[in-house]
Amino acid sequence: MIVMKFGGTSVGDVSAIRRLIEIVKTRLAKKPVVVVSAISKATDTLQSAARFAEKGELSSAKKLLKELEARHNEICKEFLGENTSEYEGVTLRIKEYFTSILELIKGVSLLSELSDRSMAKIITHGELLSSLVIDAVFNHSNIKTALVDARDFMYTDDNYLVGEPITERIKTETPKVIIPLLKNNDVVLTQGFISNTEDKITTTLGRGGSDYSASLIGMAMDAEEIEIWTDVDGMLTADPRKVNNTKIVSVISFEEAAELAYFGAKVLHPLTIQPAVEKDIPVRILNSRNPENEGTLILSDSKKIKGGIKSISCKENIKVLNVFSTKMLNSYGFLRKIFEIFDNNQTSVDLITTSEVNVSLTLDNEDRIEEIVKELSVFSTVKVEEEKSLVCVVGKDLKNTKGIAKRIFQKLGDFNITMISQGASLINVSFVVNKSDLQEVMQVLHDEFFDNSN
Ligand code: ADP
Ligand code: ASP
Ligand code: MG
Repeated sequence: MIVMKFGGTSVGDVSAIRRLIEIVKTRLAKKPVVVVSAISKATDTLQSAARFAEKGELSSAKKLLKELEARHNEICKEFLGENTSEYEGVTLRIKEYFTSILELIKGVSLLSELSDRSMAKIITHGELLSSLVIDAVFNHSNIKTALVDARDFMYTDDNYLVGEPITERIKTETPKVIIPLLKNNDVVLTQGFISNTEDKITTTLGRGGSDYSASLIGMAMDAEEIEIWTDVDGMLTADPRKVNNTKIVSVISFEEAAELAYFGAKVLHPLTIQPAVEKDIPVRILNSRNPENEGTLILSDSKKIKGGIKSISCKENIKVLNVFSTKMLNSYGFLRKIFEIFDNNQTSVDLITTSEVNVSLTLDNEDRIEEIVKELSVFSTVKVEEEKSLVCVVGKDLKNTKGIAKRIFQKLGDFNITMISQGASLINVSFVVNKSDLQEVMQVLHDEFFDNSN
């Protein structure tokens, strides 16, 4: 079997869903489990509605929900026809979902409080809705489809908005639920992003988490391949929204792809690769607008992957914490105290450079930055630098390839660069630049390494 994951833009409107049907039809012999995201912008919309409700702006929340409901109904109308029993049936279910969302939102508004648990419950409706609609459309298009609720097999801890998967449970439950359904149907359809605790409280795998759902399912099912269908031709040499003349990277290793995803290549959720590595399952990134294109194949490094720079990723909005020891602790005591604080605040560090009395760090998420700074300030002086970006050049064997660092930094001579790090891994060179320089830095580097006319 294979897993096929379709992102928001690949299920975003009528023509996207028409393409999706055609793509799935070409794979029926491979027994696909189709994993869908919410229709494009639905998760953002639900999130905004919840936030409006928290501020007591219930009518703004309702307006957003009405528009979202109309988008789903419109898709049903287009495929099922307006006066059919199929249309009546699905739109009734859609209405029921929106009634539940409204109940939740009214609760948030009443309490003026939006807990992570309520937020998870609200935003997971995006995928519940999209899968409901696509199930109806598939069956209507003669693709015999079994819709299964991802919460029947996708389990996480109780970190409601970024659940940590309980891998052993997922491995046992997923085949138990999916294998019998795959036998009797053309397709098994389920939601990405959605999960639950072992007590059946709804959680999510974090924003962009449908890719992660797909690879967890692939791992649990021992899939032949995991296909990530999106809106670009594959892993590109840089984010096409930031850089001109990007090119497709046709083959890349698990390690390289994981590093790029971790350091900002949004095309893959940062943790997507981990489960695939465990079972050595190839991951392919494909464009649902251009399905003939071969996309990017992500493989184990043992499969003779070429060396050299593959792609440049970036995180546009980061803060740098400069921590100065005031009490002149010995350096290991100083580092231990710092890391304890990050650990207690469940925040990991992306980049770190150290000297005996100073440590500079960038964080993978800034939710707890205020608390972290407060705790660090007990034994150190902390300076926070804002408006920074992180750039990460990724490729196999960079550390052993002479002249790469020289080429990078010679080209960037006119820019202010800090926190240069060649990582413990052999495959990345990272550094921090001013956010205002990011676009130019990315283009200059991209031209240097990927412009064939050079
Ligand atoms: P989906 O909704 O299908 O999950 P996303 O928006 O999450 O799609 O991811 C696709 C986007 O990732 C692309 O449109 C592109 O702008 C962005 N992106 C960032 N870096 C890269 C890269 N190196 N290669 C391809 N796309 C990238
Ligand atoms: N719908 C979710 C989000 O927008 C998950 C995903 O698209 O992967 O974050
Ligand atoms: Mg995504």
